[in-house]
Amino acid sequence: MDRDVLVTEFCELVQIDSLARREAAFAEVIVAKMAEMGLEVQHDGAGARIDGDCDNLIFRVPAQADGFPVVMLNSHLDTVGDYTGIRPVVEGDEVHSAGDTIVAADAKAGVLMILAALGRLGAENLPHGELLVVFTVAEEIGLVGSRHLDYNVLEPWPDMAYVLDGGVTPGEMTTQAPYADEIHFEIRGQAAHAGVEPEKGINSIQIAAQAIAQMKLGRLDEESTANIGTIQGGAAVNIVPEMTQFRGEARSHQEEKLVVQSRHMCEMVEEAAVKHGATAKIEQERTYNGFALSPDEPVVQRGIAAAEQVGLKPRLHKGGGGSDANLFNEHGIPSVIVSTGAHKIHTTDEILSIPSMLRSLDWLMAILTVK
Ligand SMILES: [Zn+2]
Repeated sequence: MDRDVLVTEFCELVQIDSLARREAAFAEVIVAKMAEMGLEVQHDGAGARIDGDCDNLIFRVPAQADGFPVVMLNSHLDTVGDYTGIRPVVEGDEVHSAGDTIVAADAKAGVLMILAALGRLGAENLPHGELLVVFTVAEEIGLVGSRHLDYNVLEPWPDMAYVLDGGVTPGEMTTQAPYADEIHFEIRGQAAHAGVEPEKGINSIQIAAQAIAQMKLGRLDEESTANIGTIQGGAAVNIVPEMTQFRGEARSHQEEKLVVQSRHMCEMVEEAAVKHGATAKIEQERTYNGFALSPDEPVVQRGIAAAEQVGLKPRLHKGGGGSDANLFNEHGIPSVIVSTGAHKIHTTDEILSIPSMLRSLDWLMAILTVK
């Protein structure tokens, strides 16, 4: 029964489009569901700051007992890419899309788990501490919502946060995540007619190619990666291309290693440009800072104790990506990412594992109620 209700609700939620910065329609449904539980929304005004149609949504759930930490629960309202018109298909223990889109278990399984957990707390009259629920917008386009969250609205200040935006294994928590830089390169050479006077030209595509060929990319070591992800340049086959732009990123669990790698990528571009008389314009930005929580941290300890209470094997995971947890940790809220049953996310093969979501929900209930 419970399972069927949750699966039906999941299918309803994913059919409401909620692309990044366009989450308003979905948010309206979530606000109504929270209102049914007597919870009033608080807006933080982020929508206007990020040119979106929706703010981050904050809800405060009063404590029903003493002796609990203030726990923040988070998931994000937006879905990745530009997939709309999602048609969920339930097959056995899984929900997948009709094939041409994601199924948006990332992160609507997490949103649903939070709603379900709050419903159960109330229905079963379970003792719990004060809770803050924060639904963020625009996570998938670079943690934009959590970056522009009005942290002053978080009152009382949370002792810890659980980010419901995780993988498929119940009991698994991401306690470490990398630092990341994004770098935009622009090489400006000299345009010239390719057949009449090519010697007057400086080929920016060739310089970009040389620079990129010199770069250490891919998996650099156990905790560092780098990528050049987009490139564009040139105007026509008979013109020596004046300008080429390309963009890349680097990530590492060690900030010093990230600094070294980003500098390396910039140097390769600068050297190649200088060598051929071109100019390079480089813009580098820290996308997010990483975190590494000790297993002794109360947020981790609570997760471990809760997993054990419901018979799950707690596992601490070192993540390779950024999430809102990076921003919360940066703002001093110890935060881990917990599993939701979402699998193969960001692809059209994405699935929600129903048993995995249900077990993760048991775990979440324990996180909220374990003494
Ligand atoms: Zn996500």
